[in-house]
Amino acid sequence: MKVRVDADICAGFGVCLGLCPEIFELHDDGYAVVLAAEVPPQHEASVRKAVSQCPSNAISLSDDRG
Ligand code: SF4
Repeated sequence: MKVRVDADICAGFGVCLGLCPEIFELHDDGYAVVLAAEVPPQHEASVRKAVSQCPSNAISLSDDRG
């Protein structure tokens, strides 16, 4: 599973960092960046939670398993 944050949409609320600090980090300019585009299986659940709770719907997932 891959994850990305659209920096143009992200409003820097930081919800995603709170849910999964292993994957998301807040950039100095006030938007979230992805630390690991390929999400390790143990973090998939918290990343999915971040997707559903991001106030600006800036996080998107893609499944690379075909
Ligand atoms: S929760 Fe959404 S809006 Fe907030 S920092 Fe993360 S990606 Fe950006």
